[in-house]
Amino acid sequence: METKTWTTCPFCGVGCGIVVHTREGRIRWVDDDPANLSSRGMLCVKGRFGTTFVQHPDRLTTPLIRRGGEFVPATWDEALDLIAERLPAFRGRFGSFASAKATNEDAFVQQKFIRLIMGTNNIDHCTRLCHSPSVEAMLDQLGSGATSNSYSDYEEASCLVLVGCDPGSNHPVIASRMRKAVDEFGTRLVVVNPKRIDMAERADIFLQPLPGTDVALFNGMARAILDEGLEDRAFIAGRTEGFEAWRAAVLERTVEEYAAVCGVGVADLREAARLYAAPPPRRGLPPGERPGSCLAWGMGITQHAHGTDNARALINLALLTGQLGRPGCGISPLRGQNNVQGCGDAGCIPDSLPGYQPYAGDVAAIFEEAWGAGIPREPGIKATDMVERIEAGDIRAMYIVGENPLLSEPNLAHAGALFRQLDFLVVQDLFLHETAQLADVVLPACSFAEKDGTFTNSERRVQRVRPAIPPVGASRPDWAIIADLARRMAPGAGIDPRQFAYGSAAEVFAEMARLTPQLRGISYERLDREGGIQWPCPNPDHPGTRFLYADRFPRGLGKFVPVRQAAPAAELPDSAYPLVLNTGRVLYHWHGGTITRRVQALVEQMPEVPVAIHPDDAARLGIDEGVEVVVRSRRGRLTGKAVITDAVREGSVFVPFVKLQESAANFLTNNAYDEPSRIPEYKVCAVRVEKKRPRPVGAIGAPPTASRGR
Ligand code: SF4
Repeated sequence: METKTWTTCPFCGVGCGIVVHTREGRIRWVDDDPANLSSRGMLCVKGRFGTTFVQHPDRLTTPLIRRGGEFVPATWDEALDLIAERLPAFRGRFGSFASAKATNEDAFVQQKFIRLIMGTNNIDHCTRLCHSPSVEAMLDQLGSGATSNSYSDYEEASCLVLVGCDPGSNHPVIASRMRKAVDEFGTRLVVVNPKRIDMAERADIFLQPLPGTDVALFNGMARAILDEGLEDRAFIAGRTEGFEAWRAAVLERTVEEYAAVCGVGVADLREAARLYAAPPPRRGLPPGERPGSCLAWGMGITQHAHGTDNARALINLALLTGQLGRPGCGISPLRGQNNVQGCGDAGCIPDSLPGYQPYAGDVAAIFEEAWGAGIPREPGIKATDMVERIEAGDIRAMYIVGENPLLSEPNLAHAGALFRQLDFLVVQDLFLHETAQLADVVLPACSFAEKDGTFTNSERRVQRVRPAIPPVGASRPDWAIIADLARRMAPGAGIDPRQFAYGSAAEVFAEMARLTPQLRGISYERLDREGGIQWPCPNPDHPGTRFLYADRFPRGLGKFVPVRQAAPAAELPDSAYPLVLNTGRVLYHWHGGTITRRVQALVEQMPEVPVAIHPDDAARLGIDEGVEVVVRSRRGRLTGKAVITDAVREGSVFVPFVKLQESAANFLTNNAYDEPSRIPEYKVCAVRVEKKRPRPVGAIGAPPTASRGR
């Protein structure tokens, strides 16, 4: 008999509802869920056809312990006892990565283990690699690091501005709602992207700036708004601070000068500014309602050596125009992974406790009382710094859950060399991926389809995850594995083991909600009865919050921060490496591809890494469509297939960061970092491209990869 389970898609941050159809313990097919409040019956190709990875033969089915250089199957007791015996020696030199693919409950128990048992705040997750600059800027300028609006606001906006993102590939269901706004309601569309994405075909204005010139672009828009008197003076006077100092910085250049820096047309820049600040009303806008604009951005903004300044420049624009705190407007850093919002909410970041609460004062005391012990009060080390500080000895052991840094870190050859220096590495995941192959102990975790829990999507909506099939092999939910380990280590750390005696995911959620004001009104009972609920939801009678900042910002006043255009990137083209590499994602794969490389239907759509190159560059280099090309940077090389397209600017190449056939963009990318977020500059580095030469007769061997054991 077929069974249906209502749960949440495990791929991107849109958080679509899915219905998993199973028979005899196997997933048969996946359908959409018309009742889901975020996706309203829509799904993309990954949600509908991408879940076959769950029962792929590569799934880890038993713990593994490295003995004599080889992995040997072990029992749970053997594996967890070994970890419990080894880890205490690394207190003070230890770090942990959490997973934005795992549930809120998994994340909450992991950060509690790291803080309480390991005595450190050295915990982080992949937000460091995607939206940490957005979060830094939003926390500083507004007091909250979340998307301010809901997906429904895209449909109610009179203008959408999409910057450095490609929703058609990365957030397809959001893209559908945006297309609907443009096609049905006449919503104006501005697209800013160095690559001509498919949404640009619908745009009123498409700006294709030179890589790394975003601050100049947004300051140019601000200058144009000021020149034409389109700023929202009442909002600036009543809701913000720092306006005059910021204005003085923007007025240092003219719109013409800003446009020249970015390589865009002056008239287009001015029109984009007008549309954002004062869009004409969309069709059906209620009488008397001010037309709103939504500003959405992606990693094209953040993954730069000045990513935080880029995000600040965008937030300044929203404050200048008062496009916040009403229906049909707001700011959206579009989240990549399914639960990157929730993983941060649950406290898997080095600089705050669950709910972004500070270590200082009363808040930490509340946690200490609840947990019956002291917690560290100093901010921990950020993910990228944990890796960079292995060599110095600051980090000698790591516990990595659901992440594969040997695909996601920049400059992979460098990262691989560092990970090999660790004294002890535990990896808990679904597959024996590149990082797991270096581990001392590997623990098999359940996938989303085998466990209870919640994910929180890009519009702050907490949604249920429910088990559709039994655990594969001996795999267990992440929270249950870590709680078991914590109970073994608790007596040695002076902690009451009952702190980790959870009987269910619901018990974990209840503790998280008790300690996190923004979640306090949410429970499994409510989620099961009402569907997903958007935080803040401070009490059980609260309906949840569609948009933030209606009356005030969490920090009080919104803060303008002056930013000026710096050098476009840490590494610029030269005669040896004359092209600029831009990286990003594609519809058919997800991030580094650890999961989607194990979905045959998706691999068939894109079996090799495409290298997009402008026709003029291709002609100069003698490269034809579809030929194999080698892309080299100062750090490494990859082989891919040439795609000749004027969607990329002349002088640029675009390579998605999925790893296919041993080729991955992160062998090329630069481990230069933004301050203060410490995000790597994935979006810009210097490369050269050449046709792949045939291998000489008799040559043997393969290029070095990061996938060999220690
Ligand atoms: Fe899943 Fe994102 Fe596709 Fe929705 S848009 S089905 S959440 S991958």
